[in-house]
Amino acid sequence: MPLQPMQAEIIAVGSELLTPQKIDTDSLYLTGELNALGIEVVAKAVVGDDRERLSAMIRDSLRRSPIVILTGGLGPTEDDVTRDAVASALGRELQFNLAVCEGIEARFRLMNRRMAEINRRQAYIIAGADILNNENGTAPGQWVDDNGRIVILLPGPPNELKPMFSRGCLPKLRAAVPSTVIRTRFYRVSGMPESELDQLISPVYTRYSNPVTTILAAPGDIQIHLRARTETEPQAEALLSELGAQIEELLGKRIYSCNGEPLEAVVGTALRRRGETLSVAESCTGGLLAGRITSVAGASDYFAGGFTTYTEAMKSSVLSIDPELLRVHTAVSQPVAEAMALACRERTGSTYALSVTGVAGPGGGTEQNPVGTVYIGLAGGDGCDVRRMRFLGDRTRVRILAVQSALNLLRVHLDSESGR
Ligand code: ATP
Ligand code: MG
Repeated sequence: MPLQPMQAEIIAVGSELLTPQKIDTDSLYLTGELNALGIEVVAKAVVGDDRERLSAMIRDSLRRSPIVILTGGLGPTEDDVTRDAVASALGRELQFNLAVCEGIEARFRLMNRRMAEINRRQAYIIAGADILNNENGTAPGQWVDDNGRIVILLPGPPNELKPMFSRGCLPKLRAAVPSTVIRTRFYRVSGMPESELDQLISPVYTRYSNPVTTILAAPGDIQIHLRARTETEPQAEALLSELGAQIEELLGKRIYSCNGEPLEAVVGTALRRRGETLSVAESCTGGLLAGRITSVAGASDYFAGGFTTYTEAMKSSVLSIDPELLRVHTAVSQPVAEAMALACRERTGSTYALSVTGVAGPGGGTEQNPVGTVYIGLAGGDGCDVRRMRFLGDRTRVRILAVQSALNLLRVHLDSESGR
């Protein structure tokens, strides 16, 4: 059976945590440790040193969640109210524990000090609680099992809380929590807007609460994370396959990766497998495309190199683009993108060449070629394919989208060829 994650809540106690000077970091540490056990933190609260308010909060949390962890308020002073508040919330007594008191006294003796009378307060233990040893301070922690609900009291100082939790609590929690397996699948999609993708697949994934589906969108690149939580690995894999198959069916070849690999790596792997090579001629992306391709280790197996020809003069001198062609059609045009890709392929001798020329903005737009217009060329053995794209957004976004689209054009081409 698919499992619902076990739920926990954390209550940070201390009026100083309600000031602008002090933040609750203990709960961040605890959340990380709990998540690693498959326990989900569903609520966190910060409350001042007020016994009644804290008591009410503990009762509320326990109604919702089977694990409640309190941090702070275990010190010896009048304003340390956590012990009292938990005892009252659970309807249990506080009992003086002689052994704990002697331990605290011994600690003071080690420091050549006498224990103050108020430190005796720290030796009060909630009836039935297990004592959690404090290696770095006086206040012991406490673990109360209240008919299967677990309440844990930990000291506030992080150097006391962390060793106490990892040594005293983690082994007990591991035993108390049903063992869970978490397995994930990580699709990446390119060439469609997030809203369109969500419209297509949300009727499917919203039917599943397990696996949980998360969609993350970056310009031209959407990631779909599936996270299954079950008792055994085969169960998790079965759930991922069940939902995954439906998503794959709907998105088809727009999915370029099922394991989270970026587009440049997918394209690189395909080229390497085929023993083919690539080069690039860039204008408005100024080297970004070559940068993306070479961000993958081992790209020299398939990437020959590239030209950044930003001015018309460079396009003519380096790639021999006919000045007449540039004059008649302008640099941002279908014929120039085609000529750039063909010349690049010829100069480098690579199997494929990609070219990019466009108006990244914010200036330079014309009626014919408004800002965001980009031509992308792909030259290969059977000629040259040029696409005219129109991207919306600022300069950075237009350039990122141009690079993404160029890589995707090649990816789709390689994919269709391998299917032949
Ligand atoms: P003590 O015996 O030191 O009084 P305590 O359990 O009563 O311990 P608090 O008095 O609440 O803990 O806090 C002591 C110190 O621990 C605080 O001044 C603060 O520096 C730190 N502390 C308390 N709670 C947190 C928290 N949630 N996150 C980070 N630091 C905390
Ligand atoms: Mg204190």
